[in-house]
Amino acid sequence: MSSSSQDTISRERASRRELARQRLMADRNARQLKLMGAIPRLGAIQDRFAHISLDLGRLALGEPGKLGRNVDELRSLAESLREERDRLLMEHRIPPGYLEVWWHCPKCQDTGYTGVQKCLCLVQEEIDDLYHRSGLPPALLAQTFDRFDLSLYPPDVREHMAGVRDDCQRFAGRVVAVLPTDGIVIIGGVGRGKTFLCSAIANQVLQAGRTCIYLTFANLLDLIREARFEESPESRMTLNLLESVDLLTLDDLGAEKPSEFVVQELFKVINARINARRPTVVSTNLTMTQLEEVYTVRVVSRIIGTSQLLKVEGEDIRLLKKTRQAPQARPRAGGAAGGGRGDRK
Ligand SMILES: [Zn+2]
Repeated sequence: MSSSSQDTISRERASRRELARQRLMADRNARQLKLMGAIPRLGAIQDRFAHISLDLGRLALGEPGKLGRNVDELRSLAESLREERDRLLMEHRIPPGYLEVWWHCPKCQDTGYTGVQKCLCLVQEEIDDLYHRSGLPPALLAQTFDRFDLSLYPPDVREHMAGVRDDCQRFAGRVVAVLPTDGIVIIGGVGRGKTFLCSAIANQVLQAGRTCIYLTFANLLDLIREARFEESPESRMTLNLLESVDLLTLDDLGAEKPSEFVVQELFKVINARINARRPTVVSTNLTMTQLEEVYTVRVVSRIIGTSQLLKVEGEDIRLLKKTRQAPQARPRAGGAAGGGRGDRK
């Protein structure tokens, strides 16, 4: 992603955080006011605290205090007020911490920084943001390399598929480390785990805080159409982002012949990424010959020439999974299936 759009995003995030901080402090103040209405002595204690801390400041600057006490006396006065306040709260069954600000992250008080270091809560928020912007559908978030199930493949292709998985994982590792790397083209029949591998790569890249956009080819067509014909500025922006994210994943290049204009746009995106040495993952169930017919030799040779080709083998895993998950769902034969109706005989 370009650094200016990153800057805009982090500025937005910082002001969002500041607003949320102010809201939490206003919450605390409202709780405080309510409580002081109910227990007036708490207000007086609060007032005393304010004067004590002012006097401590004066004494530190060498000015005389207004309460006529020295530092030690002021400190022990504050301590006994604190005890009184806690006792009052307990008597009224107010839970401890009721008068504190309820930070989501007490460690950084929701500023996102401890000193100059980014707090973990901010790092997590940035990652969540990347996921949100990636377009990766929620259903694919769980598709990670450690959940890639080799046992779903026939025994004779398991070793091959383990190799494909490892190649994909190595590729994701290089994207994360921002090492120069070729793209990947995953080829093979429907239901053989192409989408799983695409999303496992995207998940690993996003989890490491790199930028990624995941699109099915159908999404890409919509995007191009919206950007061109509906002149949607948002689609135009996303289209530009396709060229600059760390990883672009185009899942499911299909057999439907796109218009010449779409092929041109696709070429522009892929070419810009190749020139900038940014990798792209493409998956398709078309053969090489079909790919060339649909997307032209120019586009396909540009992609293939800068990609590692991986072929997925085996049977349709989606069907296999369905039958494994729901063996009881099959209609049962014989008299038991119609038990209720049988009673009416
Ligand atoms: Zn934090």
